[in-house]
Amino acid sequence: METTQSPSMNQSELVKVAELLSRSKNTVVLAGAGMSKESGIPTFRGKGGLWTINGEPPLNQYEIFLDDPKKWWSEKFTPNNKEDSFATALDQSKPNDGHNALVQLERLGIISHLITQNVDDLHRQAGQISITEIHGNRYWIRCIACNSRWPKNSISIQKDLLPPRCEICNGILKSDTVMFGEPIPPNLLQDCHDATRKADLFLTIGTSAIVYPAGQFPIMALEKGIPLIEINPETTPLSEFTKINLRGPSGQILPELIKLISENQV
Ligand SMILES: [Zn+2]
Repeated sequence: METTQSPSMNQSELVKVAELLSRSKNTVVLAGAGMSKESGIPTFRGKGGLWTINGEPPLNQYEIFLDDPKKWWSEKFTPNNKEDSFATALDQSKPNDGHNALVQLERLGIISHLITQNVDDLHRQAGQISITEIHGNRYWIRCIACNSRWPKNSISIQKDLLPPRCEICNGILKSDTVMFGEPIPPNLLQDCHDATRKADLFLTIGTSAIVYPAGQFPIMALEKGIPLIEINPETTPLSEFTKINLRGPSGQILPELIKLISENQV
């Protein structure tokens, strides 16, 4: 059969991973910026990254928010002419073949949970159900007191009543995206722990998995003897510990895996 694989994609490794996936009922995925990049979203770090070009946000970003949440919200209502290339890229982006393949693997009962560092909503838009967005979702709002979350467009925020308050506990609301210096809601990390503990296979996709706390989950999988598979165009610090590394874009490799899995079904 004709395929459009890159020369570096190793067919026998691909078949091995397809077999592992076919047998799995509890694959947990950690998906990172590499997947978003394939949908045209710029990365933050690295060559050409937003922070590399524009500088990193202040490390005490969350403290600044807490000092004056009203000011932070007021600025949201103040039009500025500064071009926000990240926002533009997000608004124009769509899930790619990789996102769609992960949804298929969930529907096949193979993927039980997806942990993502991406804030761009693309996994949800593709239709992924069981998902933890550990860095938040740019289109959601969260209460910093009780951690309840809502899609932004489902709540009305009044300009003359800032900061907006939680209707459950009266806590202050902020954008769900986790700021520098802001703790990740503990309930989210607990969900990731629980999912990883039950996993029978762990996939890291498009992430170097070195950023804490996301990086702890593949390590946890390793320590528990759960086979770790990496899908990434480049080598990462995790590569030497993984059972199989598939080198290439996820938008290409994941659909190949789906094809192999469906061909083998009798
Ligand atoms: Zn609340």
